[in-house]
Amino acid sequence: MSSTVPDLAALHALHPAQQPAYPDRSAVDAVVAKLRSVPPPVFAGECDDLKTKIAAVARGEAFLLQGGDCAETFEGVTADNVRNKLRVLLQMAVVLTYAASVPVVKVGRIAGQYAKPRSSDLETRDGVTLPAYRGDAVNGYDFTPESRVPDPQRLVDVYNSSAATLNLVRAFVTGGYADLRQVHTWNTDFVRESAVGQQYEVMASEIERALTFMKAIGADPDEFHRVDFHSSHEALVLEYEHAMTRIDSRTDQPYDVSGHFLWIGERTRQLDGAHVELLRHVKNPIGVKLGPSTSPDDALALAARLNPENEAGRLTFITRFGAGKIRDGLPPLIEKVTAEGVQVAWICDPMHGNTFEASSGYKTRRFDDVIEEVQGFFDVHRSLGTWPGGLHVELTGDDVTECVGGGEELTDLDLANRYESVCDPRLNRVQSLELAFLVAGMLRK
Ligand code: PEP
Ligand code: MN
Repeated sequence: MSSTVPDLAALHALHPAQQPAYPDRSAVDAVVAKLRSVPPPVFAGECDDLKTKIAAVARGEAFLLQGGDCAETFEGVTADNVRNKLRVLLQMAVVLTYAASVPVVKVGRIAGQYAKPRSSDLETRDGVTLPAYRGDAVNGYDFTPESRVPDPQRLVDVYNSSAATLNLVRAFVTGGYADLRQVHTWNTDFVRESAVGQQYEVMASEIERALTFMKAIGADPDEFHRVDFHSSHEALVLEYEHAMTRIDSRTDQPYDVSGHFLWIGERTRQLDGAHVELLRHVKNPIGVKLGPSTSPDDALALAARLNPENEAGRLTFITRFGAGKIRDGLPPLIEKVTAEGVQVAWICDPMHGNTFEASSGYKTRRFDDVIEEVQGFFDVHRSLGTWPGGLHVELTGDDVTECVGGGEELTDLDLANRYESVCDPRLNRVQSLELAFLVAGMLRK
């Protein structure tokens, strides 16, 4: 390990927030030792490629689409599930690219998104109180005392599940599934019949005609047949992220090879905290979530610490203010960051500031609030002359009922039908496509 990366003990000395309370330290040490020897899921050179693409986002020349589950689960590592998530992201990306004529950088919240920060350490149900579920990386979702004990072996399962998922993703995106000539076949099952599915069909036919024309004149570039797709997750459990931090043999620099892009969450972005301390040493492109309590000076200080060389593409600010706060809260941040000449890609997370509990008890979000926050994000950036660089969303490729509203007009009463998230509510595939068309409209203006 390079002398520049602090060791785990040094990180723990910073009292990191949101860490598992492992009962047995020696078992943790054994797992960390094992993880230090496993092959990397991603390569440092791929992280550099993504950084170059995000630099284009920071310059206003590309749009970033980042999406996937709030929390992946080990059980969810199936071919169907991975394909469905990839499919909705490909559909959204093609809508954004075609309808807005902007290159789209595609990043999944996938192949590593297994650890969750929680607002409370405990959960109470029917008078019984147990440790909160912190994601499959840490403990089990079942509400029993045994299942809620943090188990370090789960970090090995995170590695294996991430590697299996990434393997499948790589096969899908290079092996023909992401070929643009498949643009119609992505529009299958329940989505095809929806109003937005019909809108997509019209667009897909136009794309197909254009492709046929290109082929007829002899143009058939590689880009028509495969896409670049990258993985990302919140870098939360320090044992895991530290064990996956390796020195790249090409550059002699440390990279966290657990994923291409890593972000620091709203609850762990303390300037002198362990998460900032670890990620400031790795060379990956990274993000930080910024909620409504962020001051302009906080944003500047984070940029100075995480990107002291002011390299474009290195740092993404993922703002998550909430629909009611973004129009007042975002401008001071952008103004100060821009005035200081700080290079950053601005991305909108319209999910995490808009969560509430429905009368039925389910955690949900209103589709209209999601759209309103994205509209506020665009309006603020447009009025300041800065670039609304992208979207960060929680979604699934399935027909779930977790967020209310949208063209299907899901209500509180529908939530019980198919609520499958183990953490936050996700847009279903119809809602995700609707969002993509609305955002394409905002980008065009
Ligand atoms: C998340 O992305 O699932 C999350 C917990 O976000 P935040 O850190 O912005 O609350
Ligand atoms: Mn979430």
